[in-house]
Amino acid sequence: MKIGIDLGGSHIGIALINEINVIVEKNEMDIEKRENIENEILAVIDYYINKFKQNNQIELIGIASPGNPNNKDLCISNIVNLGIKKLDLSNIYHKYNIPIKLKNDSKSAGLAEFKYGSLKKYKDAVFLCLGTGIGSAVFLNGNLLQANKYVGFELGHIIIERNGEQCNCGKKGCFETYCAMKRFKEKAKKILNITNITSEELLEEIKKNKNNEEIAKLIDEYINNLIIGLSNVIDIFEPEAISFGGSFVYFKDLFYEKLVKEMHKRRYTFNKDDVPEIVLAELQNDAGMIGAVI
Ligand SMILES: [Zn+2]
Repeated sequence: MKIGIDLGGSHIGIALINEINVIVEKNEMDIEKRENIENEILAVIDYYINKFKQNNQIELIGIASPGNPNNKDLCISNIVNLGIKKLDLSNIYHKYNIPIKLKNDSKSAGLAEFKYGSLKKYKDAVFLCLGTGIGSAVFLNGNLLQANKYVGFELGHIIIERNGEQCNCGKKGCFETYCAMKRFKEKAKKILNITNITSEELLEEIKKNKNNEEIAKLIDEYINNLIIGLSNVIDIFEPEAISFGGSFVYFKDLFYEKLVKEMHKRRYTFNKDDVPEIVLAELQNDAGMIGAVI
């Protein structure tokens, strides 16, 4: 048995996973940026390792996380959304003596989608997680592409607009400043003049106001920007399929049909007759936990 942990920007998921990478038992909790959140996260992880190891032989703990995971010192640095500078897992390793593998969250979710979900039919594929930012994973000839120094293949930071909107990474005009779902939701709320609303309620409000000129323009602009980003990705990697994950899946009714139609109509890529399949992630929150132990 393995333990897969997905440390997201707003939730933590912990699962007991069997030898064929199927989740046997899982727990998910909401977390938010606050002081000493590091210690709370470590306490939650510690609690579940104890719980799961009582009846099971645990051979691996896999942790998918944003930021920079370092497997040499078992520390994850710069988890920006949670305000964590450094999360040190070495004490957990010394306490239980079970191997720990740290991985990037989008690469993990992408790997799970590639092996068991929306991309399992393809050898050359790209996974884009459109959520708080844009996370990404690229697969060619059946393998996840990995960079040597850092995480690499960060497609969310391809610049699609010179001197465009300010990105958290320090650059301007990055793909994610236009196409992260967080930015879309913020702009929609501003147009509709609403605050404190759940994603469910926001989706309803947007659907009700689809004929509102500004909302229609916002959706069109979102799709236009997505196509620019995708055309770069397609020309570089020539994927057979691109899978969208993150909260985009929840908001799919606003974009999916139109996006696919426009991609075929405009053929905005170098090889014009070869538009990849556009698919939606299937494993939802389970993807990060499963991908962490693959
Ligand atoms: Zn950026």
